[in-house]
Amino acid sequence: MLKKFVMATNNPNKLREVREILAPLGIEVISQRDAGADVEADENGSTFEENAVIKARAVYDIVGLPVIADDSGICVDALDGRPGIYSARYAPKNQECEKLLDEMRDVPEGERTARFICSAVLLDSEGAAAVMGKCEGTIGYEKRGTEGFGYDPIFMYGDKSFAELSSDEKNKVSHRAEAFRKLYILIKERYGG
Ligand code: IMP
Repeated sequence: MLKKFVMATNNPNKLREVREILAPLGIEVISQRDAGADVEADENGSTFEENAVIKARAVYDIVGLPVIADDSGICVDALDGRPGIYSARYAPKNQECEKLLDEMRDVPEGERTARFICSAVLLDSEGAAAVMGKCEGTIGYEKRGTEGFGYDPIFMYGDKSFAELSSDEKNKVSHRAEAFRKLYILIKERYGG
């Protein structure tokens, strides 16, 4: 079975998490930078899956090797699913938690449900295959914890924020873990093993 895939991302946190998720399954993940693909795709799709395929395609066109990619974000019920696919562009860098807490300041307990969504894609000469993962939680009232990235400090999974979980704990339950474990099954179907 093929064991090496190039990951289409310039986000070091995602790269680290996907490596941690796939390494125990025997899959090595090369960063797009190490594969020589200095590209940032224009994410102009209208779904997580479309954007994941766009990112994968931009890197595949350069490296010509099997590529994996993810597009992910947080969907908040009280905000009709926002920021969703716009999660990365929702606020200026490192201010996403403050902005979301502010938008949620009058939303009562019980209406603060949210979920992380991740679309994971495999793209190779056979074409693209996509799977989804999700993780249900709520939006907290303040930032908690120092692990993780992005919205982790305000995403409550039970009584802990994602930023209070170790990466091992997050990788057991996260949207990205669910998506990439499903992708592993597709990889095995395509490449055997
Ligand atoms: P994109 O997939 O590159 O469009 O970026 C998704 C954005 O969603 C990230 O920049 C984060 O702000 C947010 N996001 C996605 N997954 C996570 C996660 O596991 N923890 C915290 N924030 C996340």
